[in-house]
Amino acid sequence: MTTMESLIGLVNRIQRACTVLGDYGGGDNTFSSLWEALPSVAVVGGQSSGKSSVLESIVGRDFLPRGSGIVTRRPLVLQLHKTDEGTHEYAEFLHLSKRRFTDFAMVRKEIQDETDRVTGKSKMISPVPIHLSIYSPNVVNLTLIDLPGLTKVAVEGQPESIVEEIENMVRSYVEKPNSIILAISPANQDIATSDAIKLAREVDPAGERTFGVMTKLDLMDKGTNALDVIEGRAYRLQNPWVGVVNRSQADINKNTDMIVARRKEREYFATSPDYGHLANRMGSEYLAKLLSQHLESVIRARIPSITSLINKSIDELESEMDHLGRPIAVDAGAQLYTILELCRAFDRIFKEHLDGGRPGGDRIYGVFDNQLPAALRKLPFDRHLSMQNVRKVVSEADGYQPHLIAPEQGYRRLIEGSLNYFRGPAEASVDAVHFVLKELVRKSLAETQELRRFPSLQAEIAAAANEALDRFRDESKKSALRLVDMESSYLTVDFFRRLPQEVEPKTGNPGVKPGNPGGNPAANAAVDRYSEGHFRRIGSNVSSYVGMVSETLRISIPKAVVHCQVREAKTSLLNHFYIQIGKREGKQLGQLLDEDPALMERRLQCAKRLELYKEARDEIDSVSWVR
Ligand code: GDP
Ligand code: MG
Repeated sequence: MTTMESLIGLVNRIQRACTVLGDYGGGDNTFSSLWEALPSVAVVGGQSSGKSSVLESIVGRDFLPRGSGIVTRRPLVLQLHKTDEGTHEYAEFLHLSKRRFTDFAMVRKEIQDETDRVTGKSKMISPVPIHLSIYSPNVVNLTLIDLPGLTKVAVEGQPESIVEEIENMVRSYVEKPNSIILAISPANQDIATSDAIKLAREVDPAGERTFGVMTKLDLMDKGTNALDVIEGRAYRLQNPWVGVVNRSQADINKNTDMIVARRKEREYFATSPDYGHLANRMGSEYLAKLLSQHLESVIRARIPSITSLINKSIDELESEMDHLGRPIAVDAGAQLYTILELCRAFDRIFKEHLDGGRPGGDRIYGVFDNQLPAALRKLPFDRHLSMQNVRKVVSEADGYQPHLIAPEQGYRRLIEGSLNYFRGPAEASVDAVHFVLKELVRKSLAETQELRRFPSLQAEIAAAANEALDRFRDESKKSALRLVDMESSYLTVDFFRRLPQEVEPKTGNPGVKPGNPGGNPAANAAVDRYSEGHFRRIGSNVSSYVGMVSETLRISIPKAVVHCQVREAKTSLLNHFYIQIGKREGKQLGQLLDEDPALMERRLQCAKRLELYKEARDEIDSVSWVR
């Protein structure tokens, strides 16, 4: 391939890829601006001036709907790709990317059908382009855009606004500085009335990117010619005018072959008394070459800006890919590895929350330092150890036989009854810490960036972690309650040893020596047995015992909770999950790594673009050095 072919082919491929990716026209992302940075040729002219015919001659194939009236009603973006000699010619539509057309009559039918699909079988127009690619060894690399013809009046069935609508649509294509304007004017009409020239002059006043094409030279009145225009005297453009002779309607009706038509055109110019001296600069084949050359020089001039645009796009895509996360592995081993990595990432963050570095762990200390002591203080011992209740409990415990020395049964019942109250704060501490841990799991999951891609895995980790926390809570509750139970199942002997001594001075019995519980308090006790003071004393004895136990539990409950819940959460939150995961099959692992479909799609698009742009960069690098 020559440099020229590969350069234009490269641009063509980029444009094609842009269209496949939906990056053309409109929008303000870099991808559509890349499309716009690349030159393309737009065919402009009045209705029936021969636009579609010129395009067909350039392609050398019959494939466009042609005729009188408004035939082209949607823009047709036609990309010609030159393929290697000897390869088969085929066409492909963007909207039917799986189908290769080798019969060009079918291409024409599909253009008509696809036009009707959007506009209905009316005479309405639509700015939504049809994208067609033709792969052939007989074409030059070019992107051409066939546009609806400019008109002066709306016909039956069209709204009045159609004249303006068509003009605006056409203008939107030709006003872009990278657009090359193929302005078609029929020779059997005064050039001064040419719609094509009028619009071209408006958007390209210097005539730098306009190519004037004169059609229907064969239809001019005998004795007249278009030399004034073709030789640039009537209307001056920077680029030379080209005259062409397309097939007449009669030729089309007779199905005149394109090869034959080209030959006839060549003969026409070669033998023409008017244009013979210009023969080698006339005709569709020359026009195709001229356009191709022009495109090459335009592209060459644009290479620096195209390259920098491509580099910018690559940078943007790379950072988007980083943001989206790289694609995941497909084999089970690698998937398991990925899952474990993700779990560890979560676990790390969770630990940071517990150990500090991230907030939240301090709330556990808050439970021990505030909530638990406050709950302990609020226990209703005043009521339970009130004189009345003490009397009631002691009397019930004594039964029909009042106690003689000390109301041992009464003490036990009062103490047991009191200690029972500790179950509440014990359980509440466990639940409060459980709540904090759950909250930390939720937070940590949300903070694990890597997991965002994998909603399924995230949900499973959440479920596994919460299930583990539930287990730890149950265990912790058992332990904390056991601490309470232990306090009530064996009362501290020392405490009771001291009891009679405390009783003694109040009973006013001087015969009893301190430290001698076996003394003889019976008589006094008997005396005081039913006095309020006696019960009040019992109450306050129990109360101080309970206070001692409360102090112990205030210290030991947090130990149980930390041991059973916090420490477990830190060391083995996901242990169960790891075991389960290890047993899973590849397919199930794959499901865990199911990503959000929208995200996968986006990554796929990104990856495709990235590949395209990198290829483009390499090609431009290699092409731009060859002269
Ligand atoms: P469009 O509306 O601008 O796309 O014009 P078409 O390409 O559909 O052509 C309109 C009519 O003019 C068709 O019947 C063509 O056969 C005829 N036509 C186009 N160019 C020429 C030409 O150079 N010579 C002759 N004799 N007829 C032509
Ligand atoms: Mg047309």
